[in-house]
Amino acid sequence: MKISILTLFPEMFDGLFNHSILKNAQEKGIVSYNVIDFRTFSKDKHQRVDDYPYGGGGGMVLTPQPLFDAVEQTADRSKARVILLCPQGEQYTQAKAEELANEEELVLLCGHYEGYDERIRQELVTDEISIGDYVLTGGEIGAMALADSVTRLLPGALGNDTSAVTDSFSTGLLEYPHYTRPADFNGLKVPEVLLSGHHANIEAWRREQSLRRTWERRPDLLKKASLSDAERKLIQLWEEIE
Ligand code: SAM
Repeated sequence: MKISILTLFPEMFDGLFNHSILKNAQEKGIVSYNVIDFRTFSKDKHQRVDDYPYGGGGGMVLTPQPLFDAVEQTADRSKARVILLCPQGEQYTQAKAEELANEEELVLLCGHYEGYDERIRQELVTDEISIGDYVLTGGEIGAMALADSVTRLLPGALGNDTSAVTDSFSTGLLEYPHYTRPADFNGLKVPEVLLSGHHANIEAWRREQSLRRTWERRPDLLKKASLSDAERKLIQLWEEIE
């Protein structure tokens, strides 16, 4: 997969892309990151990329020309998903990450200042994504969250010691709790079943923990999760006891 990021602050991405799983994924040829300073595409003699809003008001607005030219010259628009990071966009989820992980090319547009000219939204982008109901100074943190969450889903990106399959949201539920050595830490004991070596019992315990945790913390997820009749009955029981 090719992920291009159009930003005014390319150096912000050095830390993320040069470490750990994302660095390895590039070295293995699974993904390539192309971080582009879209100011370099500005035709303004001072390389300006923003201007005052028509109609007045505070803040500066990104002009369309640099971003249109940057996308045109660096991406294959016939197949690329061009994604605007934007607090007004569709809320980002693991399901969206899974959908985007099937693409060949993503282009992430990082806004800054007050906003961007509406024609960027109308003509250039295929998706608008928000990473939450709060306002950041720029789209870079959102682009990092998106590039990271998509990369780890690409086949071969995670080593054998990490797996996306049981992650929270991938199963429709939150993940079960983990424990490691020691079995007794200051009197806090690891659940017996995990020490038993009985794989079926461990699986059953994990599934129930996952269910319980989701019910307690994110009951909204249960509406869409695929659950057995026995699991639905168990939830009913918990609800009656509460
Ligand atoms: N005035 C805009 C509004 O009210 O919708 C907010 C602009 S914000 C200060 C500057 C840039 O940060 C946005 O253009 C966007 O790229 C990015 N940004 C801010 N919050 C975001 C969020 N929750 N998700 C994704 N991107 C965000």
